[in-house]
Order: sequence, then C-alpha cells, then structure tokens
Amino acid sequence: MKKIKKTAISSNVLRSLWSVAALVLFLTTLLSWWLLSGSWATWKSARNNVSQFDDFYHVLQVSNDLAGERAYANELVLSTVREKEKAWQSLEKSRRITNRDINKIPADLLSPALLKATLDELGRARQRVDAFRTHTLTDPVEAQQTINAMLAATDFYHQALFRHTSAFLLLEPSALGPILRSQALGELRDAAGRLGSQLLVPLATQTPLPLQNIEAISRGKERISVLWWLLRTQGDETSYLPGFAQQLESTRQTFEEQGITLLGTLQAQSVSGEHYAVNADSFALRFHASLNSFDELLNTYLTGVKKHYVSAEREALLHLLMVSAILLVLYALVTGMIMYIRARVLRPILRLNDIAVAILAGKQLDAPMDDRTAEEVQELFSSLGALGDKLQEQTRLSRTLKRQSEEDPLTHLYNRRAFDARATALLQQASHHFPAWLIMLDVDRFKSINDTWGHPTGDEVLVGLATTLKTFSRPGDVIGRLGGEEFAVMFRAQGHESVAGYTQRIQAEIRKLAFQGPNGEPFQITASFGVSVGWQRPLSELMSEADAALYEAKNSGRDRICGLP
Ligand code: GH3
Ligand code: MG
Ligand code: MG
Repeated sequence: MKKIKKTAISSNVLRSLWSVAALVLFLTTLLSWWLLSGSWATWKSARNNVSQFDDFYHVLQVSNDLAGERAYANELVLSTVREKEKAWQSLEKSRRITNRDINKIPADLLSPALLKATLDELGRARQRVDAFRTHTLTDPVEAQQTINAMLAATDFYHQALFRHTSAFLLLEPSALGPILRSQALGELRDAAGRLGSQLLVPLATQTPLPLQNIEAISRGKERISVLWWLLRTQGDETSYLPGFAQQLESTRQTFEEQGITLLGTLQAQSVSGEHYAVNADSFALRFHASLNSFDELLNTYLTGVKKHYVSAEREALLHLLMVSAILLVLYALVTGMIMYIRARVLRPILRLNDIAVAILAGKQLDAPMDDRTAEEVQELFSSLGALGDKLQEQTRLSRTLKRQSEEDPLTHLYNRRAFDARATALLQQASHHFPAWLIMLDVDRFKSINDTWGHPTGDEVLVGLATTLKTFSRPGDVIGRLGGEEFAVMFRAQGHESVAGYTQRIQAEIRKLAFQGPNGEPFQITASFGVSVGWQRPLSELMSEADAALYEAKNSGRDRICGLP
C-alpha cells in the first residue's frame, strides 16, 4: 500500500517536472529559432549583397576594360608609322587586361557559350584593328568601320550580360539601387567614350562629319543626359558615400564645359566646312583626360558600395554570432536550472519520501544515504520527532482532560454525566432478546458510618465498593457513581436469572467487605438494590424504575434487591 503511494508520488512529481522542463525548453527553442532565423536571414542577405555586388563588379570591370581597349585601338588606327609600335604595345597590354577580367565573370552570369560568342565577336573586331598595326589611316570609311566594330563588340558584350543581370538582380532587391547606379556609371563612361569615337576619323582625315556620326553623337548626348539624371537620384549611398554626389556633379560640369563644348565647336566647324580647330591627336588627348574622371567616379562608387556591403555583412555575422552565443548561454542556464532543481530539490524530497516510507514500513533503506542527504534527513527527522513528541503530549493532555471530565475522582468510576452518555448508548443497542439491565445500589445508613468513623473512612468504604463493582463487572458493562453513596451498573443480559445471580453475588461480596475504623475497629456494610430492565427506551425511564425499586428496598428494611422480574 505504502509502496504504491511512494511510487505514485515520485512518478507524479517527476512527470510534472519533466512537463514543465519540456515546456520551458520548447519555449526557449521557439525563441531561439525566431531570433536565430531573423539574424540568419539578415546575414544571408548581407552576404548575398556582397557576392552579387562582387560579381557585378567584374561585369563593370570588363565594360571599363573594353572602353579602355577601344581608346587604345583608336590610337592605333590614328597613329603614324613612327607611333605604330608603341600604340600596338599599349593595345596589347589593354587586351590582356580585358581577357583576364572577362574570364573572371562567373559562369552563372555569362555562360560558356555566351562567353565564347562574346570573345568571337571581340576577336573579329580586334582582327580589323590588327590591320592598322602595319598600315596607316588612308580610308576614313574603313577606319570608322574598324572603330565601329569595336563598339559593336562592346554592345554585344553588354547585351549578352545586362539582359542576364536584370534577371539576377530580381533575386536580391535590396542591392538593386546600387547595382543600377553602378551600371549607369559604367554606361556613362562607355557613352562618353563613344562620343569621342565619332570625331576621331573626321578630325584625322579633315573630312566633314558623316550623317551617321552626327546621329550617333546626338543619341549619345541624349543617353548621357538621361544617365546624369538617373545618377542624381541616390539611395542609402548618401549616408556611406557622402562626397559622391559632389564628385558626380563636378565630373558632369567638367565634361559639359570641356568635352561637350569642344564637341559642339567641332560639330559647328564641320557643318560650316571650316578647318577643325584641333587635330585628332590633341582631341584624343583632351577627350581621354575627361574620361579619366569617369573612371575615378566609377571606381569611387564601386569601392565605396563594396566596402559598405562588406562591413554590413561583418556586422550581420557578428550579430548572428552574438545571438547564437546568448542563446547558447540561455539554453545552458535553463538546462542547468532544471538539472539543479532536479538534483538539489526534487531528488532529496523524493529520497526523504523513500526514507519515510521505509521507516514507516520498518524496512531497511535500499541504498545508504550520502552525507548531505543524511544531514538533511537528520534535520528533518529531528524536527519531525519534536513535532511527534508535541503531538503525543497534546494527545495525553486531551485524554487526561477527557478522563477527568468523565471520571469520579474518588472511585475512578464514570461520573453521572459520563454514565448517562454510555448507558444511553448501551440502551440503544438493546433489544427484546437482549435487553439492558440497570442496577442502582445505595449504601445503607452511610451517614452513620461517616458520623461514627469519620469522613475519610466513609471515603474508603466508597472506594472499596467501587472496586468490588469493577471486579465483578465484564468488559462493556457501564459502572458509574451517580452521587454520594449511590452507584449504578448497566449491562446487557438475556435472562433475568443470570441478572438476579449477578446482583446477589455483588450483594454478597459487599456484605463480605471488611472495613476498619480509625483505630482498627472492624465494621461491615450492606447495600440496597433497585433493578429495572428495558430496550429502545429513554434512560430516564429505566432510572426512575430502578430508583423506585431502590426506594422500595430501603423502605422494606434495606440490604435487599427489589425490581427483579
Ligand atoms: P439510607 O440507608 O437511607 O441510605 O441512609 P443514609 O445515611 O445512607 O442516607 P443519607 O442520604 O441520609 O446519607 C448519605 C450521606 O452520605 C450523607 C453525606 O454526608 C454522605 N456522603 C455523601 N458523599 C460522600 C462522600 O463522598 N464521602 C463521604 N465520606 N460521605 C459522603
Ligand atoms: Mg444510603
Ligand atoms: Mg443515598
């Protein structure tokens, strides 16, 4: 029984603890997951920005390289025999740079097939340029076609690539603004270069600008003004590239004042058929110089944005690591707390329960207690012991008080009140076949005993009589001192013969009792008896009947039994 109780306590408590622990761990996991997934997503997006911008950096690099290569190709086309070898060396160098950078473009941006097509297109344009390694510019049409072939190769590259990048840009919209602006910067550089290309051959050959070139110039100028406008709208970059807007504006002003003005002058001279104010060489030099500031602009922008993305990625990574570390500590704390409560609080309580159960069942403990448990158990048991002693004392006291309230202090028989209560209970159990009998007895001429031998001797008589009644009673009989020298016995018996015998035996025993006066004077006593019988009746009725019988016994001479059927 106790074993079952013990197991039930242990398993219930353990089950509750594990439920609470599981809930706490679940909530911690949920919180961790939520925080971690947020930090992870931020870091992933920052990392994507870095890698995509890096990819895009290569794309623009090649675009810039092609613009540079075009400038050197133009130089070769325009160069005199004396300058040919130097121009060729520069062109070769710039071609190597283009080839190196074009191969760095990731395959997911420029597939091997597209790369091959781009290189083929570039190869064909380069072949046309190669012809000018040995011969000087004689046919303006052929020269312009060669220059245009390089422009067409650049266009092919842009078309192959930018069509592809627009799809890739959608993947990471947060990088969209900077990437579009980088692209615009690249295009601006390219468009500015192209403007110059339209003038080189007419200047070198002192021929008017062909219509085709004039149209290309006006298209280029329009394109450039759109790009300026586009670049003036800045996003977040204003915060991490504060000087960029100013640099952009000063580049624009310089280009407008120098490049565009010069272009306008030359165009006007071409229309009016005047001699051009500058020759091709000095134009190329001046135009090239203005393009350098475009290169710087692009470079400032790309390095600035890249730096920003790299530091944002680093910050996101740091944040992710910090969140992970904090969550790890939180996890460790929660787990530690659960383990601590289990080991330091729950286990000892369960162990104490085991010990208490074992002690109550009188069994040996399964395993010896460790020192700490022993100490805790000892403390608990000394407290329990003190509590037990206190409870016992209280019980003893209340028992004594109860006995005192029910007992006659002289004879230690029930007093009147207690007798009535117990006799009533006995009477209620009585039946026709097993009735309750009430014997009421009173010491004869007791007053004279008191008068003759004194009150203490009278008390001894009362005690002696009570002892006799106790000796002859059976367990369950109710004996009481009703008051003074009057006693009563109630019991259940089946036949009146046995009751008569019992009463007579008491009467005889009382007669036989030997008492002594204060000086050893012997004397004896007698008593008168009144008997009544009943069941399922009030005690008062039986008492009155017994009293009446006793009265009769007294009146008819004393030392006799009256009321027996
Ligand atoms: P009867 O035969 O008619 O019963 O006469 P009695 O003298 O016994 O009756 P009575 O009622 O005249 O006297 C009872 C006496 O019992 C009176 C009282 O002083 C005495 N008594 C009552 N209680 C005690 C007690 O506790 N101790 C002693 N010693 N005497 C008591
Ligand atoms: Mg009397
Ligand atoms: Mg009396």
